[in-house]
Amino acid sequence: MNQIASAPVVPSCSICNKPAPLETAKTDERGQIVHEECYVFKMSLIAASIKPQA
Ligand SMILES: [Zn+2]
Repeated sequence: MNQIASAPVVPSCSICNKPAPLETAKTDERGQIVHEECYVFKMSLIAASIKPQA
């Protein structure tokens, strides 16, 4: 109950799980930390997976 981390916590990108310093990270629509490039990549994957509906 006494394990307070003294080191600054670097959030991890929710997409690639690598450290994502706040200076370079952004948050997605769910408030999760993501790299901007990962976010763009994820969006492109989603866009590719969504087929236009007739
Ligand atoms: Zn990432």
